Amino acid sequence: MENKQILVTRSSMPNYEEYCREIKDIWDSHWLTNMGIKHKTLEKELKEYLKVSEIKLFTNGHLALECILKAMKLQGEVITTPFTFASTTHAIARCGLTPVFCDINKDDYTMDASKIENLITDKTCAIVPVHVYGNVCNVYEIEKIAKKHNLKVIYDAAHTFGEEINGVGIGDFGDASMFSFHATKVFNTIEGGAVTYKDEKLNKILNDIKNFGITGPETVEYIGGNAKMNEFQAAMGICNLRHVDDEILRRKKVVEKYRERLGSRKGIKLSPIQDGVKSNYAYFPVVFDGYKYNRDEMFQLLQEKNIIPRKYFYPLINDFKCYQDKYSSNDTPVAKHISERVLTLPLYADLDLETVDKICDIILK
Ligand SMILES: *Cc1c(COP(=O)(O)O)cnc(C)c1O
Repeated sequence: MENKQILVTRSSMPNYEEYCREIKDIWDSHWLTNMGIKHKTLEKELKEYLKVSEIKLFTNGHLALECILKAMKLQGEVITTPFTFASTTHAIARCGLTPVFCDINKDDYTMDASKIENLITDKTCAIVPVHVYGNVCNVYEIEKIAKKHNLKVIYDAAHTFGEEINGVGIGDFGDASMFSFHATKVFNTIEGGAVTYKDEKLNKILNDIKNFGITGPETVEYIGGNAKMNEFQAAMGICNLRHVDDEILRRKKVVEKYRERLGSRKGIKLSPIQDGVKSNYAYFPVVFDGYKYNRDEMFQLLQEKNIIPRKYFYPLINDFKCYQDKYSSNDTPVAKHISERVLTLPLYADLDLETVDKICDIILK
């Protein structure tokens, strides 16, 4: 136990026999990719599970985001957050769009909606907020601003698989949402992702863009890429989806334990529980603000005991080498403050509560 490393996350897997049964058809048919039966089955099941109008599957979340940005034919500036994984900003920049960073809320770490309008110019075409750690954005306020200024809203929902606000699927807010099914996420297809959206007119272009822009046996209409989810990924998804509710329930137990031990401690800040939100307990961020140890000291202390948390998200995207010429984290002071103080603690369905207690003991000692 003492020698075993406890990492921040551990991939969920079905049992071996269950996966073997699921891939038997693939062996029989020799249909390995290009929207086969597993792909279609998973797409249908996820549409229902996520309570969304439309969905398309992709080889990963990042390409899903790039494809929806392309499909919407956006041009100009996109208001987004620096407090996220590299993928969000990279997708915007790789589509030839200009990221504009908006600061975040100090409690839930999502985009501060009250700061959006100041950043809107005549070049602004869209807002790309992130439901970070499973905390949902202020979707109603963002919708109001987007309507007023005629902007598209595309959510990075990589952290919010299966979440709902007042019974509405999180992927049903805004014009579109991107989900990631990477191995480390609450629900995985090994690598994988999806875009959910309302406008049926996007169906065709999304299908075409993820398959080289090929629209017929002898016609290629778009400069598309290759972003198709293959049959083995989809089969993994079909299996994992059967168990995801149980996994989320087990994650909930871990989070409740953390909250019980670390809540209302001076200098330790936890994200508030959001009203009306069905959570998936994706991450457990802890902000060390005025605690007897700072974040980096705590990171060190835990590592010495073989507990490996993550400085997620540090550094901020506006300080990345590839963006620092044009941006600075000083422009987003709240995000900078949180980024320098936050640690995400180990959290996965199989994490036993004794280990959670041990982690809390180290932190509180
Ligand atoms: C995981 C993640 C992505 C990228 O998803 P992939 O499936 O790994 O490509 C994008 N945004 C956020 C916030 C993520 O956590």
